[in-house]
Amino acid sequence: MARELAASTLERYRKRLEEERERLTEVITEIEEEREEVRLSETSSDRSPDPNTAEGGSLAFELEKELSLAENARDLLAKAEEALIRIDDGTYGDCDACGEPIPVARLDALPYAKQCVECAASRR
Ligand SMILES: [Zn+2]
Repeated sequence: MARELAASTLERYRKRLEEERERLTEVITEIEEEREEVRLSETSSDRSPDPNTAEGGSLAFELEKELSLAENARDLLAKAEEALIRIDDGTYGDCDACGEPIPVARLDALPYAKQCVECAASRR
């Protein structure tokens, strides 16, 4: 509670987080549509991709890459949503581990950060 962020500052972060949420939702939708297409094209042919052939191997690799992209995007999306909730309940900008205010420079770089640099670093 050591710091009150100005309403205009909070609005700025809210805007960024909302844009980020929109962008990530699009990314996830795109990846899911693409995976669905791959799945449909696989079931329409009577052979499943064989990881031992170059074609099957690279397909599996592509799917894996997209899966981790989607996971990453979902993770960030959850963080952005959490941050938006914290803006609403007035806890945004305070470290959830030590309670100290997170420096504005950190929030500017990572608007969904919920811990100060020290606490985020000591968690690993
Ligand atoms: Zn902290």
